[in-house]
Amino acid sequence: MNVADSNRLARALENLNILPANDPDEAGLIVLNTCVVRQSAEDRAIGRLNSLLPLKKANPDLIIGLMGCLVGIKGNAALEKRFPWVDVFAAPSDPEPFLRLLGERQDQLNAEAWRRSADEVLDAEFGVTTDAQHTISENLPIVLGCSHACAYCVIPNRRGKERSRESRKILSEASVMVEHGAKELVLLGQIVDRYGLDLPGEMRLPQLLRELSKIEGLERIRFLTSHPNWMTDELIDAVAQTPKVMPHIEVPVQAGDDEVLRAMRRGYSNQQYRDLVERIRGRIPGVSIGTDIIVGFPGESEAAFENTYQLLKDLRIDVAHLARYSPRPSTYSMKFLPDDVSEEEKMRRFRALEDLQKVVVGEINQKFLGQLQPVLFENSFRGKWRGRTPTNRLVFVESDENLYGQTRDVKITWTGPWSLQGELA
Ligand code: SAH
Repeated sequence: MNVADSNRLARALENLNILPANDPDEAGLIVLNTCVVRQSAEDRAIGRLNSLLPLKKANPDLIIGLMGCLVGIKGNAALEKRFPWVDVFAAPSDPEPFLRLLGERQDQLNAEAWRRSADEVLDAEFGVTTDAQHTISENLPIVLGCSHACAYCVIPNRRGKERSRESRKILSEASVMVEHGAKELVLLGQIVDRYGLDLPGEMRLPQLLRELSKIEGLERIRFLTSHPNWMTDELIDAVAQTPKVMPHIEVPVQAGDDEVLRAMRRGYSNQQYRDLVERIRGRIPGVSIGTDIIVGFPGESEAAFENTYQLLKDLRIDVAHLARYSPRPSTYSMKFLPDDVSEEEKMRRFRALEDLQKVVVGEINQKFLGQLQPVLFENSFRGKWRGRTPTNRLVFVESDENLYGQTRDVKITWTGPWSLQGELA
């Protein structure tokens, strides 16, 4: 979501002829986009912000902007006081304050023309692209904000309530992205499977997937993140029946213990999650499933953690994004539940799951050895082409050909838990 927001701003600026600098020293405008989902992310953002102060001192004309969840949607009086060297603050997904400030700094002659182009660029929202900045896989937000209020999560507080975006707009933005070279779209939302539920008369995600798949030149569609309670059979079937929609579902469980799940306010049980995984696997052949897990949530006993471990062990999930619980301001758990699992214990649980996944995913990936997989190549990395299989596995290939943006059959010659290697078939 943050990558999508950063791209939106960068492209808006490029369309107004404000071009990237090679180095912060050469920049006239520096924007820091921020995540605060865990304390570590917030600390990193603040560290970066502090590191910009010497640049501002050396060059008072430098404009420094702060964007994203550190700012949030609720005003920035406290931030203005704490970071007086920041010139402009913007909520997540909102480039407008930057464009307004830059407009004010234009001379009068240009101001009118600037405002007209800026309005146009803002109107296009995520559909602004530039040839300089086109990417093979584009992130396209379809639901902004979140209204679920999981006990641990700061996102609803910072990104505001859930707002589905109009399908008309999404479809036109998607076409623009494809015209500019995108081969894959990743539809984004905090609970992406709730798409449309807040807009009377709007289509739902299954139909949006079908409509998007009609775009010529678009090869692959993905979406994340799903919430178990909103993954309908209709959605699962749409994935199974729409060839461009890739067989990969990101559906976080967060914990495998019913009491912890209740305290997290997730709204489902261990058994319901197991049933869902079975349902998805039964209906989408060869599907891969991703999940998120938080260890060390308040009150998570050793026995509760074992339930999470066992769930992961039984289900053999293809990818697990692991996190240690971090109390966040304004959340229910921060206010009412003591952070009572020690850091050492959180780390031990984190490592235990990591070790488990390494073995499980290593075994799952091994089955791909010698197989042919259609890989969409996105970029090159350390002299190798990097792409993904339909089930979102990373594949590295050595080749003198320019594979950028191509989908090619690759014979898998090596597998590990986190990536595969292969050669062009
Ligand atoms: N709405 C999406 C993304 C949320 S943020 C979803 O529900 O999946 C991505 C992940 O960060 C979450 O899934 C959760 O596992 C983790 N996370 C969120 N808040 C956290 C916190 N306070 N401490 C640790 N991890 C957290």
